[in-house]
Amino acid sequence: MNTKEIIDASEQHIINTYGQRKLALVRGEGARLWDAEGRAYLDFFAGIAVCNLGHCHPKVTEAICRQAQTLVHISNLYYIEPQVKLAAMLSANCFATKWFFCNSGTEANEAAIKLARRYWTVQGTPKPEIISAEQSFHGRTLGALSATGQSKFHAGFEPLLPGVHYVPYNDVHALAAALNGKVGLVLLEPIQGEGGIHVPDPGYLAAVRQLCNERGVLLAFDEVQAGLGRTGRLFAHEHEGVTPDIMTLAKGLGSGVPIGALGCSDLVAEGFAPGSHACTFGGNPLSTAAALATMELLTEPGFLDKVNAIGAYFLGMLAGLAEDHASIVQVRGRGLLIGVEFDRPVAPLISALLDTGIICGPAGPNVLRFLPPLVVGKEEVDCVMAAIEACLEELGW
Ligand SMILES: *Cc1c(COP(=O)(O)O)cnc(C)c1O
Repeated sequence: MNTKEIIDASEQHIINTYGQRKLALVRGEGARLWDAEGRAYLDFFAGIAVCNLGHCHPKVTEAICRQAQTLVHISNLYYIEPQVKLAAMLSANCFATKWFFCNSGTEANEAAIKLARRYWTVQGTPKPEIISAEQSFHGRTLGALSATGQSKFHAGFEPLLPGVHYVPYNDVHALAAALNGKVGLVLLEPIQGEGGIHVPDPGYLAAVRQLCNERGVLLAFDEVQAGLGRTGRLFAHEHEGVTPDIMTLAKGLGSGVPIGALGCSDLVAEGFAPGSHACTFGGNPLSTAAALATMELLTEPGFLDKVNAIGAYFLGMLAGLAEDHASIVQVRGRGLLIGVEFDRPVAPLISALLDTGIICGPAGPNVLRFLPPLVVGKEEVDCVMAAIEACLEELGW
């Protein structure tokens, strides 16, 4: 199909929830994508932080093909070899020792909310309320949507889950004041993604951790976007030396094969019992084989050093650009999770970049967001920098 045929068929048959660009991408390799007309693009969005190893990494492709020829699905009524290998691999690389698998970020957060509620109920001290942050994003199912601190996502879907409180991000005093004795879970992104790439001040997450310990509240980090190498550490909370009770993962975990995960300690895992939570597709052989191959590559010695080096280079180049352009308010980020805030909506800049063959996206109206595959090199960053400069000139920003 050509681009026009794909777009026409989409408009006829797909429910209109996305507002796509007039672009149909049909093939990818590394940081390159090609559209249905054969035009090449440089991908600095990675399918929203999903294709962290670049498109169609040969080792992930091989793992998917091998598993697809062996066993795709069997259900969690039986033990699943790639699932237990993945859980062991994840456990070897973070604080968590027990895992629940699902298909997406929102489901992982939904599981976190349910686990926290049931954990306190089983302990004999029910604390059903939740605190999350303003400008946060945790997903679109009703529980995770309720925990999302942005009213634009709530509009028309009320009533939401009761007992959810939003506090300003990066403000531990506001959090302390909101802990009312009925709160059993604090859910935070270690770096806010969708809300505009907000990196908390050093010490904030540690202060939250201490407060949660003092008040007997579970702390969950939503690492759906910031996790899996994106910030230059395998998990973003490692930068702060802070360990949560629960961590949620998705986006980059399966390199594009849908998978979400919740990790926690043995103790917190006791909140769930057979029958209390489930997911038909969760942790199936295909998705966990893809995730296992992804984890093997992300944890190869030296891989994250390269992410840190290229991330620092890109951030440095953008900071230099900001000095020459008053329209740039701030450059923020860590590793290859990067936001450039402008004093105006960035939609025209994103379109102009796309016209030059660069794919990136927004994080809220005024923030240009870059989420390149973690395997990009200096030449690709230089190419994007030259394109941004040319586009800013053309737009007169
Ligand atoms: C994308 C995202 C989610 C939701 O993930 P889905 O897979 O779209 O459900 C949740 N939390 C964060 C931080 C995200 O960036």
